[in-house]
Amino acid sequence: MKATHFALLCLLAILVHPDCYARDSGAEQDAVSLKLVADLFPDATRTLPVESPIPHLIVFDGKHILGYSFFTDLITPIPAYSGYPIRTLVSIKPDGTIIEVRIISHQEPILVIGVNDEILTNFTSQYEGMSVVNGIRLAGKNRPNSVDGISGATITAMVLNGSAVKAARLVLEAHSDSLDTSLTDVDPLWLTAWQGEKIEIVLLITGLTILVLMLLFQDWVVVNPRFFNYLRIAFLVYTVFFIGFYCLAQLSIINAFTFISMLTKEFSWDIFLLDPVVFILWGFVALSILLWGRGIFCGWLCPFGAIQELMNKIAHKLNIRQYEFPLMVHERLLALKYVILMALVGLALNSIPTVAIFSEVEPFKTAISLRFQREWYFSAYAIGLILISTFNTKFYCRYICPLGALLSFSSLFKIFSWLRRRPECGTSCHTCGNNCSVGAINNKGEIDESECHYCLECQTSYWDEHHCPVMVSKRERRERRDKRKVLIPTAESDD
Ligand code: SF4
Ligand code: SF4
Repeated sequence: MKATHFALLCLLAILVHPDCYARDSGAEQDAVSLKLVADLFPDATRTLPVESPIPHLIVFDGKHILGYSFFTDLITPIPAYSGYPIRTLVSIKPDGTIIEVRIISHQEPILVIGVNDEILTNFTSQYEGMSVVNGIRLAGKNRPNSVDGISGATITAMVLNGSAVKAARLVLEAHSDSLDTSLTDVDPLWLTAWQGEKIEIVLLITGLTILVLMLLFQDWVVVNPRFFNYLRIAFLVYTVFFIGFYCLAQLSIINAFTFISMLTKEFSWDIFLLDPVVFILWGFVALSILLWGRGIFCGWLCPFGAIQELMNKIAHKLNIRQYEFPLMVHERLLALKYVILMALVGLALNSIPTVAIFSEVEPFKTAISLRFQREWYFSAYAIGLILISTFNTKFYCRYICPLGALLSFSSLFKIFSWLRRRPECGTSCHTCGNNCSVGAINNKGEIDESECHYCLECQTSYWDEHHCPVMVSKRERRERRDKRKVLIPTAESDD
């Protein structure tokens, strides 16, 4: 059994595991939360729990209502990145003014490791004193009814905000007699996200359209290697700076685990729709996989992959010496990423927070989501991998990346094979094999679809009249013929 097949079976095991993501115990949380409520309402004389339909606690000072406290996940259980709602304790006054928003528990990968407590406290403290009556948006705290999001954890912040505000408004509605301001019907979270990212969506769809056109007309695009090289560099720059650093839309193995975990529960697209750019990218990757394999993502749309490739191109320009492992070592190292993927799948069977820690093997969160703004050892790891890629092309992609390993399963489902080969490839000629920077062409000239990054480098060689021996002899024949055509009329005119 191939390593890829075995890893696929392990992955499927998650699907049939009924409770693969453990939840925290609730009893201890309730006790702690009651203590917090008591601290927030020092004048309280009694509390009245309301069970249904909106579970919350009414806090009294004698007959006078001081406020309400509630867990958001009991009222608005919006799944966050982990596939589970975040348990937040919200306390409000009867007029809708927020007293406190406090995160009690969560399984969010980005919050487990990456976003520290201080950042979280700064985020939740923005709500104190704000009113939920007109809604609260994540549009920057200088705007009315708005707060700042959490850099690198946009979805989590959206879910936190949406579930807290919506739950608060439902509690207020349940006591609407005591409220003298009418509430305004909040748009679904995902709709707000799509409305707020129109420019990003248009730019992304434009980029993807250009990419599809390039791929559909690849035979024409690669005919001029110099032009194609500029085109490719331009697209990689777009991927790094627009998709990566601007949209923070680096797909990750955690996305895949979240999707799979959602399939085991009540599936809803809402959580995936919350990040339009990531949603469109994943949709595009899913479709492109059937037509071109994993290479379209790895070769064109992965920001970290693009950083490595651009660094390697710069290194070539600077004549930095390149190092390749001996073939036998290279072939064994290729298996490493599948081993890492299987280990992560095994951990995912336990819980998302656990797998979140170990998925730090991906430098994506450090390099892209947090733009290197985190502890030095995470940054050193990501920078180290980028530096290695200057003298060993895409070292991380080829040997370590669990997402690349996962996507390489697509070679099992790929419908078409659009990379051209000739009978001479791998027999009398090894030009393409020697040029393939990720070593995806074997000695027989065959392309290993699971390793190919679809960079089209071999296709520029295929059509190159100065590199490919078949094209060289075609060109020479054509030149001889043209020469004869020129000589014959000259001879006739001499007669
Ligand atoms: S192998 Fe990993 S890092 Fe490399 S391009 Fe693919 S997903 Fe990105
Ligand atoms: S050179 Fe060809 S085989 Fe190698 S990665 Fe690029 S497209 Fe794939």
